[in-house]
Amino acid sequence: MKIEDIIAAVQTKLNIQIDGRAGPETWEAIYAYIVKPDAVSPAEAAEAVEPGDPRSEKNIATLQPEVQPIARALIEKASLSGIRIKVISGLRTFAEQDALYGQGRTKPGAKVTNARGGYSNHNFGIAFDVGVFEGNKYLADSPKYKAVGALGMDLGLEWGGNWKTMADQPHFQLRPAWASGLGERELLAGLRMRAAEGMPVFA
Ligand SMILES: [Zn+2]
Repeated sequence: MKIEDIIAAVQTKLNIQIDGRAGPETWEAIYAYIVKPDAVSPAEAAEAVEPGDPRSEKNIATLQPEVQPIARALIEKASLSGIRIKVISGLRTFAEQDALYGQGRTKPGAKVTNARGGYSNHNFGIAFDVGVFEGNKYLADSPKYKAVGALGMDLGLEWGGNWKTMADQPHFQLRPAWASGLGERELLAGLRMRAAEGMPVFA
């Protein structure tokens, strides 16, 4: 067995990126596995390698049924590429959106959104945000978001990283068929109308 094959086999076992070279990530994983096995509980270790961690599942459950399997598929695809993501935000009610909109306007803090209640795709369960994690550390900024963006587009999602104004790399959304070709403003108007009429989002 060649040394590259041995390293690749170890990397497979540790569920990290497989490139047959023992770089820092490989050594950290080996260290965590052999030297500090008690540092990570079995439950946490399972969460680190398995899609469907509790936080993601909690947020995915708030999304439209059509969006849920795609969000899970994105976690799985990212995991297969050696990138750990969680769905850190799903549905926001109009009231929650208004509260967020108030931040930096009527309430202290920095502005976090330009959308009032009913003016964000998050208010209709078609959008979610992901966080990239290394181990248990959340990375607000990482080139991995771009890689995840490409994976999401492969799955038919729209990626916020493509937006010309206010690019939003953690953001993904699934456009209903009736909104194909519509601008964001018309999409949101259609979503508000459907919500007001009690119509299904994807019908
Ligand atoms: Zn978002």
